[in-house]
Amino acid sequence: TAYFERIESIDPLLSSFLTLMKDEALKEAQLYDDGRKDLAASPLAGIPLGIKDVICTKGFRTTCGSRILENFIPPYDGTVAERIYKAGAILLGKNNMDEFAMGSSTENSGFTPTHNPWDTERVPGGSSGGSAAAVAADLCAASLGTDTGGSIRQPASFCGVVGLKPTYGRVSRFGLVAFASSLDQIGPITKDVEDAALLLQEIAGYDPKDSTSVNLPVPDYRGALRQSIKGLRLGIPKEYFIDGIEPDVAASVQKAIETLKQLGAEIVEVSLPHTDYGVAAYYIIAPAEASSNLARYDGVKYGLRASNSKDLMSMYRQSRSQGFGAEVKRRIMLGTYVLSAGYYDAYYKKASQVRTLIRRDFLDAFEKCDAILTPVAPITPFKIGEKIDDPLQMYLSDAFTLPASLAGIPGISVPCGFSSGNLPIGLQILGPHFREDIILRIAHQFE
Ligand code: GLN
Repeated sequence: TAYFERIESIDPLLSSFLTLMKDEALKEAQLYDDGRKDLAASPLAGIPLGIKDVICTKGFRTTCGSRILENFIPPYDGTVAERIYKAGAILLGKNNMDEFAMGSSTENSGFTPTHNPWDTERVPGGSSGGSAAAVAADLCAASLGTDTGGSIRQPASFCGVVGLKPTYGRVSRFGLVAFASSLDQIGPITKDVEDAALLLQEIAGYDPKDSTSVNLPVPDYRGALRQSIKGLRLGIPKEYFIDGIEPDVAASVQKAIETLKQLGAEIVEVSLPHTDYGVAAYYIIAPAEASSNLARYDGVKYGLRASNSKDLMSMYRQSRSQGFGAEVKRRIMLGTYVLSAGYYDAYYKKASQVRTLIRRDFLDAFEKCDAILTPVAPITPFKIGEKIDDPLQMYLSDAFTLPASLAGIPGISVPCGFSSGNLPIGLQILGPHFREDIILRIAHQFE
């Protein structure tokens, strides 16, 4: 009840939720109050959570931030939703997002942009901006977001909360509406690192319903937090500390590195030579996969169907024209182009080869260090409207989060300071595949 009162009074300023699940949530909470469910019985018993509106929730509309799915009510729960329900969590509602998770500011929501709780004239980051803003404003105890190229880490950084993108394959994508299937991962957005460990524990692990989920044991993430970081080698990639980073970001990250050194970590310089190609490779691969994944929204199977079309082709055209926003259309056109005969080898194939080089850079670097430290983004939260007309500027702001997604490695964003204008700044910690335990342990030092 307290959370819903808070949502009702504060969310009109933020628009961090698209759909509330009030009746069901209160009914569920009542079971604990009445003693019909035991608060000590399961790890997330009674914990009020949000969930990004790209994850299917049985009986509750799942819009992906898109008009084309405005009235889509899934007949099943995504695996992560099922798992957090089973662990006792109570879902409060569905968090706002950039349409189909395409964006870095949540301004591409087909409904309304989300505002940053630290300064409501500024963006909360994206695409999981609704999740991050809701957690930062204490409208839910934590939320699940998704990250294809930074969409958990960057909004967490912009909102001063913790965001963890797991290794590709660590968390099931069953019931996650696909954007770029070879990159998408679900992960927690939380107030602190211990909560991130707790939530990851519940959602990680093999799922036979997702053929890309990996069948490896899930370690004890909370247990890992108790270990010190003495003797850990932390790599600083020179390619990430370049001109163009806001001075306040550079200073806060430098200070965080110093702190970790004082706590006994060894700082080593590493090189990730193909970093510069990350933005270009990602913005070919992700739109290519998106153009294919989004072909299913044809006005027949789900969501919006244009009325008054005269035949099948015009129904497709009108439904897609009306249902998709500008950024989604841009990506579909770009993706279709780079996959088309005659261009495939020059663009998609080349980008895939570059992706392998980026992945190898990380594997080489992890020979010399246990984890890598970088800023999450070169900039602090910008004003709503400031970059929306300049997609290239928006894409470039993802330069530090995209490479880890292309490599499939885990990354966490942890608050490490504030700018002189009192805007949050995040430190990014990247680890080897399936070593979420190491990055959680390092991030935990800041609490
Ligand atoms: N900002 C990136 C994009 O627009 C990443 C989005 C994401 O991780 N979902 O594609």
